[in-house]
Amino acid sequence: MHEFSIALNIVEIAEESAKKENCRKIISVKLEVGTLSGIVFEALETALEFAVKKTMLDGAQIEIMKTDAEAECENCRRRFPVNAHFEACPSCNNYKHRLLRGGEIKVISIEAE
Ligand SMILES: [Zn+2]
Repeated sequence: MHEFSIALNIVEIAEESAKKENCRKIISVKLEVGTLSGIVFEALETALEFAVKKTMLDGAQIEIMKTDAEAECENCRRRFPVNAHFEACPSCNNYKHRLLRGGEIKVISIEAE
């Protein structure tokens, strides 16, 4: 399961940064997940529930924020929101565009004590 390895990765990132700060417990983690990251939100939530067990994140509040994807047309440079990787530019109907945001998953903040 793709989401499970991502969840383990998030736990690892959070634990590493908490250890650097000499913290023992993680209170909350905020994540940003792009709508075109290929991640199923519900699956990620479920995966995290299992992945945090017996780690520093056990009992931590995990907030997942969705980032709407935005692309830039390679032809006319128009920026537009995208819901799928193969979506035409609303101005010139071109299919070639560059994803500006919404294609990744990021840990944006970690609170630990
Ligand atoms: Zn265009």
